[in-house]
Amino acid sequence: MADIIMRAKPAVAEMSEDIKARVEALKEKGVSPKLAILRLGAREDDLSYERTALRRAEALGVETQVFELPADASQEDVLAQVEAINSDDAIHGCLMFRPLPKHIDEQLVCDSLSAAKDIDGISSKSMAGIYSDAPCFAPATAEACMRLLDYYGVELEGKKVVVVGRSLVIGKPVSMMLLRRNATVTMCHSRTKNLPEVMRSADVVVCATGRAKAYGAECFAPGQTVIDVGINFQDGSLCGDVDYEAVEPIVAAITPVPGGTGSVTTNTTMEHVVRAAETAAGIRS
Ligand code: NDP
Repeated sequence: MADIIMRAKPAVAEMSEDIKARVEALKEKGVSPKLAILRLGAREDDLSYERTALRRAEALGVETQVFELPADASQEDVLAQVEAINSDDAIHGCLMFRPLPKHIDEQLVCDSLSAAKDIDGISSKSMAGIYSDAPCFAPATAEACMRLLDYYGVELEGKKVVVVGRSLVIGKPVSMMLLRRNATVTMCHSRTKNLPEVMRSADVVVCATGRAKAYGAECFAPGQTVIDVGINFQDGSLCGDVDYEAVEPIVAAITPVPGGTGSVTTNTTMEHVVRAAETAAGIRS
């Protein structure tokens, strides 16, 4: 049995108290933190995440406004919508659902979002900030991994961390954040040789590949901490990248799916909106 099941619930509760207090402080100064959600079309996974985000925002006192464009909206229309969000002083952060439809130049649209409102770290400028330690918003999921590690007091300095997955949304940014905390980071991907052996050699393993229950007992060793970022559907239910039933008895600490990184991600998004509002209001530099 793992000593610690790294559930999101207490971490989210602690974060939520802090966010609510900061929202109150902003409102006393006449500032109401507001999140814009930009969605093209009505894909079920976007709608599902939108519902979750709207519920969380409401619970924390963060205002929201959904901008829905048709799935076949032109690139000019999407850019015009982003520009309208950029120039609306009442909006502090923007969450844009991706991937955008194929006829849109996604990078161009991401880069058109003002850095101050890029609360999910999607623009090239924000990404560059992650690698150069410049102040910017990190992708919320990558930051959620760090928040869970910190909440559960997992030591990172000098530790060997293996990150499986090298996407711009999770694998790469979380690797940089771990490096900044003086961990020794190994990034693995689909061409990595002897992956189970590499994973077994780590103190901390972060799995972010989108492969349902792909990493079983052969990939883990006693004493390890496991952060499972994967959100997959298998046989009608939600599961992570890690085969939880097989791995939980081996390791020291593990995040469950659901109830792990996903819930912390949504709260992290809201914390970013509040931070952006604080910066805009001159409360934070
Ligand atoms: P991507 O598809 O962008 O990246 C997947 C990564 O996994 C790639 O780097 C790929 O390697 C690697 N990979 C694929 N197959 C293997 C393999 N056999 N062995 C080792 N590595 C492999 O996915 P994302 O990063 O966007 O998402 C990853 C997971 O995280 C998904 O399950 C997604 O649903 C979930 N997610 C969770 C969130 C949360 O809040 N918890 C938020 C966002 C996503 P290569 O580069 O070589 O192709």
